[in-house]
Amino acid sequence: MGKTALVTGASRGIGRAIALRLAKDGYDVCINYNSNTELAEKTAAEIRSLGVKAAVYKADTSNIDEVKAMFRELRKDFGGLDVLVNNAGVVDDAYLLMVNRESLEKSLAINIQGYINCAQQAALRMAGAGKGVIINISSVSSILAVEGQTVYSATKGAVNSMTATMAKELAPRGIRVNAVAPGFIGTDMLKSIPEELAAKYIEAIPVKKFGTAEDVANVVAGLCSDDFSYMTGQVLVLDGGLSL
Ligand code: NAP
Repeated sequence: MGKTALVTGASRGIGRAIALRLAKDGYDVCINYNSNTELAEKTAAEIRSLGVKAAVYKADTSNIDEVKAMFRELRKDFGGLDVLVNNAGVVDDAYLLMVNRESLEKSLAINIQGYINCAQQAALRMAGAGKGVIINISSVSSILAVEGQTVYSATKGAVNSMTATMAKELAPRGIRVNAVAPGFIGTDMLKSIPEELAAKYIEAIPVKKFGTAEDVANVVAGLCSDDFSYMTGQVLVLDGGLSL
């Protein structure tokens, strides 16, 4: 296929599933992660076993110097970039009155600045080629009020609005930008929710189950394909009907 995708936060969870799915679709895959080298290498090994290239890049997406260095390496290793999936994110639920400064700043830095850092570097390269796809992983919390998620929902609301603006700016350069807003997906992130609350959420989901990382990966793969070549600036909600 000769196409390359970068997935941020692909050592585990949704990012890992997206990386594997894009590899199955024939993409060479660049796996970004922040701390877990062992898991990132494991994802890369699985991807190589599918017959495509894979490489791991340790970079804190909120740090522009590390992001620039990652993109330089990526260019040396793979040449061009066809797809960026902005996925690396954090959640640290706290009621408004309990939100602490450190957690607030970390969430804003990773969930907002991190997406802009990577999109900017990717767009610089994609614009030269006159084509590319950027997918931003948002959350249903961007449109649905969930207690304890003032900070997280604000960051994901920002992801939705940056998606629209990026899409408008980058369309003349042949770059499409869309977002996927998952509901509750069974990953490490969900483990931070207390069991009783998880049961309450399942009760509220019309399809009566949490989604899987693969459910998200399937939608991302579709959005990356030319089947969706006329879609840009949209937020696709994938929540089993939770927000209805
Ligand atoms: P997860 O299991 O906690 O995995 C997070 C991933 O992001 C890991 O690979 C982690 O790398 C990486 N990461 C964290 N901070 C980073 C940073 N500063 N720089 C680079 N990588 C970083 O999370 P997940 O559940 O898969 O969530 C992935 C995305 O989906 C997030 O944007 C999240 O907001 C969104 N989402 C999740 C759910 C859900 O229910 N799970 C629902 C809606 C939206 P290391 O392992 O190396 O630390």
